[in-house]
Formats: sequence, C-alpha cells, structure tokens
Amino acid sequence: MAVADAFDEQCDYLFKAVLVGDSGVGKSNLISRFSKDEFKLDSKPTIGVEFAYRNIKVRDKLIKAQIWDTAGQERFRAITSSYYRGALGAMLVYDITNQATFVNVEKWLHELREFGGEDMVVVLVGNKSDLGQSREVEREEGKGFAEREGLCFMETSALQNLNVEEAFLEMITKIHDIISQKSL
Ligand code: GDP
Repeated sequence: MAVADAFDEQCDYLFKAVLVGDSGVGKSNLISRFSKDEFKLDSKPTIGVEFAYRNIKVRDKLIKAQIWDTAGQERFRAITSSYYRGALGAMLVYDITNQATFVNVEKWLHELREFGGEDMVVVLVGNKSDLGQSREVEREEGKGFAEREGLCFMETSALQNLNVEEAFLEMITKIHDIISQKSL
C-alpha cells in the first residue's frame, strides 16, 4: 500500500513522516507532545526506531499521521533507507541552546535529500525555545537557513508545549496539499 493511500474506513489518508536531528534535541518529547500531550523529564535518548500515530483533521480530511523517530542513527546506518522509505515529510530538529546541533542541520538535510523523495516536505524546528537565556542559535539564523533551503521554519518548546501542534500541523497540511494537487 502506498503510504498516502486510503488507510481505513475512518481515515482518508495515512502519512508517514520522520523526525531527524542530533541526539538530545528533543525529538522524542516533540512526538509525545504531539501524539499524547506528554512531556518526559530526563527521558532517555532514543535507540533504534519508534513511531507514534495521531489522527488529525486537515482541510476536512481525517489524516492518520505516522511519525517515526530515531536517534543513534549513526549506529544504525543499515536502517537509513528503510527509515526514510515512503516518508512524505520530515521534521529536522536542532536545539537552540546547542550550536553544534544547528551546524549538523546541514548534514541531516543532505541525508534527507539523498534518501527522501523529491517532494518531501521539510520543517526546520529550533526546539527548547523556553531556554532563551541559554540560547546559542538566534532565531534569525534558523529562519535564514530555512529560507535559503526552501524549508518551513518554527521554534518550539516541547517542555512548554509551544508551537508543537503548529509545527506538525504545518508539515501535515503541506503534505496533504501536495498530494491532493497530484491527484487532481
Ligand atoms: P531526542 O534524543 O532528540 O529524542 O531528545 P529527547 O526528547 O529525549 O530530549 C532530550 C532532553 O532534552 C531531555 O532531558 C528532555 O527532557 C529535554 N527537552 C526536550 N525538549 C525540551 C524543551 O522543549 N525544553 C527543555 N527545556 N528541555 C527539553
């Protein structure tokens, strides 16, 4: 079944999207905020692959979003192509308090472009916006990079639940619009 095909009687579409970014930037917590509205303090770094589902209504369609999360990606190179297979969207996450995670965004984007489809929707997410006093990456730097690369951009806080819903919604709406244009 193609990932964007009708999924079950209740859902109009199933979309697969992936989260990428350095370990510790908050990917697991962004997913649990989005799928269960939870935040895990001192959560353990993700090892291997996990995914979460959430049904969400976009433009009158019920969409089942299947969000894949991985870390330790370096240790799991063998899974790379299957991780990206069929993914229509990606959230590329860095930590605004950690410059190195922003520097690595370029590497992650390269990987997304290598393994993801041409039309993959990418949202660049600067997480931990609640830690403004420890900020190492200015908002303008993130926004500028996203504009140059044609990505959507948002700063989020999984801890304070700021912009998390909006970031996922933006990605899912864009995927929906690309798919419905194609099927016209
Ligand atoms: P992952 O390895 O990218 O999946 O990152 P995690 O979701 O496991 O988060 C790594 C650490 O950052 C954990 O200690 C989280 O509690 C913390 N964290 C995640 N998101 C936020 C956030 O928005 N604000 C703050 N202050 N801490 C966060």
